[in-house]
Amino acid sequence: MSIFTRVKEQLTARQVAESYGLKVGRNGMACCPFHDDHHPSMKIDTNYYCFSCGAKGDVIAYVAQMYGLSQYEAAQKLNSDFQLGIESGNEDTYQPNPTLMKQMKERERIIRIRERFEKWCNQTIEALKECVQIMSEVHISTIGKASDEIFSLEDYATIVHVEPRINYWLDILCLSELDEKQQVFMQDRGEVERIVKELNSAGNRILEQSRRDSGYANEHCG
Ligand SMILES: [Zn+2]
Repeated sequence: MSIFTRVKEQLTARQVAESYGLKVGRNGMACCPFHDDHHPSMKIDTNYYCFSCGAKGDVIAYVAQMYGLSQYEAAQKLNSDFQLGIESGNEDTYQPNPTLMKQMKERERIIRIRERFEKWCNQTIEALKECVQIMSEVHISTIGKASDEIFSLEDYATIVHVEPRINYWLDILCLSELDEKQQVFMQDRGEVERIVKELNSAGNRILEQSRRDSGYANEHCG
């Protein structure tokens, strides 16, 4: 007997869903975790069925869909989470339903996009923070310099020009709602990358120059 059959003999979708945190009403209805559901549209017992988005399947499909796993991985997860003690090895006898496979693939795709987005957000926040650090060092390095001396620097002009955009993106990625962050990801990704690069090279050139200048001044004072 396969791991799939044995898992299904021992667990119902409802049992598993509830223990993974789904609130199920006394009538067996729950808010569907597979779409943005505000009123319970999912009937869940041995199997589950959502009247709104059409998600459906058995206990294994539920876990596969919930966690973006293959049917076999889902069965193994259940075996281990619920300590069923099933020795696996007969998984090839299970024929997954093609609609379920399609739903699962779609969910896996969404999970991958979300992961890529989150990774991008974290990396971009770090890069933008470094830019803010460079900008503040640049501003400090210009203290005491005559304004015509500063504004003649092309690199300094670049920094003044991109600074508001850097701050704007950083505010959105750190503080705004998800949809605004996603909009930056969808629309401004390339530009963020370009401007971060531009600022890094302009900033580093200014800072190097200013280090050289102060080295020169120190030599001639000491
Ligand atoms: Zn649904």
